[in-house]
Amino acid sequence: MSYFWKVGLQSQILNWGFSHDFKALTDEKKFARFSIVPDFSDVKLIRDKEDSTLLQASAKVSGNYLPQDLGFTLFEQEILEDGIPSFGGSLGAPKEIYASYFDMSKDKRYEVYPTVKLFGWDALTFLAEPSAKESDGLCPDENHPHAIDLGLPSGTKWCCCNVGASKPEEYGGYYAWGETSEKSYYGWDNYAYHDINIGSDIAGTSYDVAYIRMGHPWCMPSLVQQQELVNYCSYQWTQLNGVNGILITGPNGSQIFLSAAGIRSGDELIRTDRGYYWSSSHNWNYDGVEVDDDAYNLQFRTSTHWLCDDSASKNGCFVRAVCP
Ligand SMILES: [Zn+2]
Repeated sequence: MSYFWKVGLQSQILNWGFSHDFKALTDEKKFARFSIVPDFSDVKLIRDKEDSTLLQASAKVSGNYLPQDLGFTLFEQEILEDGIPSFGGSLGAPKEIYASYFDMSKDKRYEVYPTVKLFGWDALTFLAEPSAKESDGLCPDENHPHAIDLGLPSGTKWCCCNVGASKPEEYGGYYAWGETSEKSYYGWDNYAYHDINIGSDIAGTSYDVAYIRMGHPWCMPSLVQQQELVNYCSYQWTQLNGVNGILITGPNGSQIFLSAAGIRSGDELIRTDRGYYWSSSHNWNYDGVEVDDDAYNLQFRTSTHWLCDDSASKNGCFVRAVCP
């Protein structure tokens, strides 16, 4: 299982911050007096256990003053003193540095700052811009949407975000099946295709909200593709950045998150502890009395189960796109 541990690197140190000991000095004075320029490269985060992470980097310092120590600061956590070896080198000399952090939460986002210390532990601390960032791990970077390869037999890739969303945990739009815009009321009387046959599979057509709003090669998943997700992946009820939903882990360990925010019916939002995601597959569902105008969707309920079922086509559901 891969969890939330991926690293992005930033090659330059852009800004400076400083600890309480430095507040009497202005930035100009600080630079004029010490002019220390640490250069951290090859910053790596290595997650060796569930709750511990090893930071590793190569550091070089130029300027006119030798710092006592180099190290890291984890955003909003104290530096662990025993995790930071004494610098003990000379200006400009490369040095490998390491630090270990424990009690990491896999549900949190962390930023790591290179740190330079002068005059002992309680003296001056410089913080630079983050040079390594632990992201939510779902996506390679923040340029969503991404096509996530979960390692499914069909090769289908799933989008990291809902249609209409710009981040994995964002809700995005509620759409009636076959419609491509949101609305304030989701009834049969204003459903565009009530008892109108627009096809048994609308993927890639002008009725496909994923295809229309995101463009080629994105489209709505078919029932078969949603069933493949359920059959080959595990899921876990969780939160991502405070949003309820399920974390889906594919056969290759890659993950996507689906938020749970119910279904729109009439002018109400109901069953908000569940998730409903339309497929492209329609179902004229005969219940013994009449034929219902339904479409298949992926549904999940708090910590119990997920399945492919169907709902009335006029209802507003989320859509999570796929690409071949
Ligand atoms: Zn993404």
